[in-house]
This record gives sequence, structure tokens and C-alpha cells, in this order.
Amino acid sequence: MVSKQKNVARLERKQHKAEAALLSTLYPNVASVIIYMNYYQKSTGRTIMQRTVNFSPGSSAYFHMECMGYDCVDGGFNLEPVINTMMKGRLKSGKGELLCAANDSSSHTRIDYKIDIQYNKTSR
Ligand SMILES: [Zn+2]
Repeated sequence: MVSKQKNVARLERKQHKAEAALLSTLYPNVASVIIYMNYYQKSTGRTIMQRTVNFSPGSSAYFHMECMGYDCVDGGFNLEPVINTMMKGRLKSGKGELLCAANDSSSHTRIDYKIDIQYNKTSR
């Protein structure tokens, strides 16, 4: 049952990603977004992995990162509000920390992240 739910959640997530608008459509001023993440196991603090995700103008503007917990169904990290705020203020870099909201097992993760955003030069 659990794995079936998880598959459904995965499919829905893929669907969301496929439906997300392109970065160039939503944020025409943005040349690239790079998200650097360190994953830690929430219960022990053990480092699990490092991950870097790159977005270009042709990428889907989908900033929901997976938790990596082996049984995480609908947790994860939504960096969209952070990135939105940065883009509004034309900030070039930001960082912070997020916990997976799900709490049903000890496999969930915590991340610290650093985000670099490059903007197109605008002629004013
Ligand atoms: Zn999780």
C-alpha cells in the first residue's frame, strides 16, 4: 500500500513538473538559477548527499526539491517562495535551511541550501 501511494505521489509530482511553466516565461529577466544543497538525515544529522541543481531559461520553473527519505511520500522542500522573493528583489544569492515537513519515520531529511541567481542585463 505504502509503495503504491508513493508511486502515485511520484507520478503527480512528475506531472506538476511537466506542467510548470518555463523559467523564461515566468522570469524573463533571469539567466540562470543554481541551487546547492547539503542533505542531512533529520534524526541523526548525518550527511547524506550533496546536490546541485541548475536551471536555465529553458528549464521548467519547478523549485520543489525531493526529500530523499526512502519512504517520503509527499514531503520535500519547496524553494519557490525563497526564489520568488530573491527574484523580486533581484538578489544574487541567498541561503537557509529547511526540514522535510513529514514526520512519519526517521528517514526524512533536512537541507541547507545556497541559491545563486544570475540576471540578464536590462537596458533601462
Ligand atoms: Zn521527507
